[in-house]
Amino acid sequence: MVAGPCSAESPEQLLNTAMQLKEAGIVDYFRAGIWKPRTRPGGFEGAGNKALQWLKDVKQVTGLKVAVEVATPVHLEECLKNDIDMVWIGARTGVNPFSVDEIAKALKGVNIPVMIKNPVNPDINLWAGVIERIINAGISEIYAVHRGFNTYEKSAFRNAPLWEIPIELKRRMPNLPVICDPSHIAGSRELISQICQQAIDLDMNGFMIETHYQPDKALTDSKQQITPAALIDLWSKLEFKTQFAKHKSKTEKIESLRKEIDEIDYQIINMLAQRMDVVKEIGQLKKQEKITILQIKRWNNIFEDRLNLGFKLGIDRDFLKKLLEALHQESIKIQSKE
Ligand code: PEP
Ligand code: MN
Repeated sequence: MVAGPCSAESPEQLLNTAMQLKEAGIVDYFRAGIWKPRTRPGGFEGAGNKALQWLKDVKQVTGLKVAVEVATPVHLEECLKNDIDMVWIGARTGVNPFSVDEIAKALKGVNIPVMIKNPVNPDINLWAGVIERIINAGISEIYAVHRGFNTYEKSAFRNAPLWEIPIELKRRMPNLPVICDPSHIAGSRELISQICQQAIDLDMNGFMIETHYQPDKALTDSKQQITPAALIDLWSKLEFKTQFAKHKSKTEKIESLRKEIDEIDYQIINMLAQRMDVVKEIGQLKKQEKITILQIKRWNNIFEDRLNLGFKLGIDRDFLKKLLEALHQESIKIQSKE
């Protein structure tokens, strides 16, 4: 658990928050942003170097380890000079390979844990690229932090969770711990607990949660910060899960259901191959007869007919729509090659 305010604002704010978090007994690292990247100029841009001393005081008084965001080699150097225990690369820095490269170079020969937030763009390779650069710099303790993504679609979230991206990251890098930052995903307090529960259900390995002793007075991200008391309350209501069932019979049941899934997946893939063969044959006929590949009426009929069937069988409409569209696109591609 990494908890603490979005920004370091004053010695009192840091100490009050940190002491309450220490008391909570569930926090491994105290976080605070010192150099704040803001979307537009003119806002509070962080307390800067002087906050490093405030964090030293927090460490001394509470015994908590401290973590700070670094965006440049100079930030990193300042952190190392001031006994910061862990650093993280932010979502805006991660999008720029030049910046990441500079930080990676500065990390060579340094032994400090590094958290890597997903870059704001929903692109798994961009995130993986930052992680690879930091691994190549020789850092052994790395945590990926899922903080949601910028998308054009409107949603209740400040940053769309797009859970499929951290899941794919876990698939590609099974030994990399992935922790969830529900604060930046949510953008508002009310949504934080449901995101935490989802993260637990998806076997995420930890949390970074913005916490402030007076959230409403916070100079940055005030709507999404919670009090240390709210953090304790949140923690007590989460339902923690394990990878394995308590009873052997249940494990066996899950195993046998998984075999069923495997079987169904093979059938689906075989049938997809059959479908594509038929599509190809139709494509040849269309070509011989000089008929257009796209037949919008036919496509509309298919679409409505399959969506209706799916509805009757309880399949989510949006999901089925995506699937049918992918199928149709692929069919057109195949026929275009004929
Ligand atoms: C932060 O953690 O306060 C922060 C700026 O986050 P992000 O880089 O995810 O936007
Ligand atoms: Mn923040």
